[in-house]
Amino acid sequence: MSRDVQRICPACGSMDWEELVHIGTGRVMTGDQRIVPGHLHKIMCPCCGVAANARVLSAEELDHLYGDSYILNTHGREEHHFFSMGRLIPRSEVFYEWILPHLPRNFKTLLEIGCGEGNVLARFADAFPGRSFFGLEGSHQACELAKVKGLSVEQGLVSGDRSLPPVDAILALNVLEHVEFPGPFLAAIHKSLGKDGRAIFTLPVQDYPGYDLFFAEHVWHFTSRHCQAVLARHGFATVYADVTHPINHGIGIFVCEKMPSADATPYPDLVSIIRNKDIWFTRFTVTDNWLELRPGKRIALFGASEVVTLLLAFTSLGGRSLVACIDEDPSRLGNRKHGIEVVAPEWLAIGKADAVLLAINPKYHATVREKLDKYQVEIFSFVEQES
Ligand SMILES: [Zn+2]
Ligand SMILES: [Zn+2]
Repeated sequence: MSRDVQRICPACGSMDWEELVHIGTGRVMTGDQRIVPGHLHKIMCPCCGVAANARVLSAEELDHLYGDSYILNTHGREEHHFFSMGRLIPRSEVFYEWILPHLPRNFKTLLEIGCGEGNVLARFADAFPGRSFFGLEGSHQACELAKVKGLSVEQGLVSGDRSLPPVDAILALNVLEHVEFPGPFLAAIHKSLGKDGRAIFTLPVQDYPGYDLFFAEHVWHFTSRHCQAVLARHGFATVYADVTHPINHGIGIFVCEKMPSADATPYPDLVSIIRNKDIWFTRFTVTDNWLELRPGKRIALFGASEVVTLLLAFTSLGGRSLVACIDEDPSRLGNRKHGIEVVAPEWLAIGKADAVLLAINPKYHATVREKLDKYQVEIFSFVEQES
């Protein structure tokens, strides 16, 4: 382990780390679906199974990343929609409904850390007139957009020397996994939260076989139990936790109240993160092997979102010229995904592709394969060999 690793495991306090992932494609994927030059390097705490980025970003790098580069819910583009029960549900509505029952009764003030352009915060502000809502957000552009919505938002990141206003409720939605030093971050929240206040965190959990281990700027990868241990060590009792949201898959919610810090030894779980790494490594390898046997073939991808980004970053797909991204969502047609034109499935009828690689969530592969059956193309799924 190189000497520049200075991390302390926030769940168990260990300073030992083992190698977990090293990918040398020269490209990495970010959680906001960009592909940037870099080497993915993750390490794991051998005592409890928490995974982390090997390299710690400097304050300057963080300001640049979240101030200017980060584009998730910061640029006034339409927010992510979940498709469920025959309707499209905006991401902010999903979070609003999930959090609402857990807010402290009769709260007067609420702060959202990392509020982006304020989509979630605006829903609460609308639902609770007469109460005070504040946001803190790293992105300059997102702050401006939030202000246009009439929200009171300040630009900045939470670090050791930043004090937060005293409030009754704090939200940090998909933020904690991005925080280089959870200690000072959680201490600042603890200090600003009133005696009967609640802090509500959401973040990806490794209980679910997801792939956020491959997101370059996700510093931490916790299971639900790791997360509760982290919170307990920093003075938060988790009064409610749920990792089984029906549509927000792979994300956990942790509703916390203040308590004296406890040296909670986390339930060690070295299996979950290694399982998630292995699942996706196998899929990358299967994809690379398939591609290697098809030099010069005209390959289209099915999909135009996260799994496309993942495969372009971490397989040899990123070095191929691809003929199209096929997507069923009419609102995406004509767009470009990483420079590749997005077309409708009917495009396959004109015979410009020899093969289609399914680059979507594996749970949809069988259905899509059936739909594409009528076209004269080879169809490849990276999960077909999995039992
Ligand atoms: Zn994230
Ligand atoms: Zn640990």
